Amino acid sequence: MNTLRRDFLKTSAAAGAALIANPYEALAKNIPPDYRGGQMKFSFRPFTIEMKHVFTVAEMSRSTTPVVLTEIEYNGTVGYGEASMPPYLGESHDSATKFLSQVDLGKYESPFALEKILTDIDAIAPANPAAKASVDIALHDLVGKLLNQPWFRLWGFDKEKAPMTSFTIGIDKADVVRQKVKEAAAYKILKVKLGKDNDKEMIETVRSLTDVPLTADANQGWKDRNYALEMTHYLKEQGVKFIEQPMAKDRYDDHAWLTERSPIPVLADESFQRIGDLKRISTCYSGVVIKLMKSTGMREAHKMLVLAKSLGMKVLIGCMTETSCAVSAASHLSPMVDWADLDGNLLIKNDVFDGMRVVDGRCVIPDRPGIGVVKA
Ligand code: MG
Repeated sequence: MNTLRRDFLKTSAAAGAALIANPYEALAKNIPPDYRGGQMKFSFRPFTIEMKHVFTVAEMSRSTTPVVLTEIEYNGTVGYGEASMPPYLGESHDSATKFLSQVDLGKYESPFALEKILTDIDAIAPANPAAKASVDIALHDLVGKLLNQPWFRLWGFDKEKAPMTSFTIGIDKADVVRQKVKEAAAYKILKVKLGKDNDKEMIETVRSLTDVPLTADANQGWKDRNYALEMTHYLKEQGVKFIEQPMAKDRYDDHAWLTERSPIPVLADESFQRIGDLKRISTCYSGVVIKLMKSTGMREAHKMLVLAKSLGMKVLIGCMTETSCAVSAASHLSPMVDWADLDGNLLIKNDVFDGMRVVDGRCVIPDRPGIGVVKA
């Protein structure tokens, strides 16, 4: 390690408080002098992840998920990123390729100006949140590696506070559900997908095998708010901690009505995409589901988390089916959340990274710098 870098690391420790207040501003103001030269090189490749089980949510079933794996290389250090694009969300290998072909990181003096770089990336085109996240995650990984620090520490979080993660049980016939619950014996919380015509059967089947706390996600599947209210009372009796996105994402008034009456928290997932949605959401729901593939990555997810908590809202950190790359990136935010649903990497057969682990049901954030992943 050269002297400049050593001095920088000393000063950066002293700047810890500033980092917690606004980590990105502090990083941009404290660019180590030896990181002002060099040029970032960005590359990406489409990849298809294969799921262990056919996965069913209220609207559809599938067994693969298209992702794009990204890399940003700078003076010999490489940051990894990922876009996961479940087809129903509208992004694809084609749309991500088109978007990422327009990303030019070579024009920036230093990777440390994350706020500036990521604001520019966001402005390339509307939408494309997962493609944007794949750049954001790789840049965070790179900067963390250059500083030799994991992101939970740069954000000032205590990794020991990382919560349990739930394991998701998709909608299926009772015998398949029973099989999945048996396979999930290591998890201390199970998330049950609802929203078709067998809601109570799903819960009863899971409950016939386990007493662990449950969470539930209707994925907009419920049509009638009175049915939704009746279900929240039933779910409460069954030991379900919250319900995610009961009705269609644009039914704000119905969700406000339900939130006022429900005995369990009502969380916005599909209704909550970008940070600008938070003001409206905060009047209709008790909490939000943050996912890096909606928020355009770690930078906006961190802002969402801080803002949502300051509004007194509950926060769940979730994920798509994705490799350990994106899941590990999300895990760095987990010490601040109420609940985590970071099982996306556990549902797939061909993970290409090693990173966040689940030990005794709890998220263990890697201590390695950046997002903490290595190629598997
Ligand atoms: Mg959800």
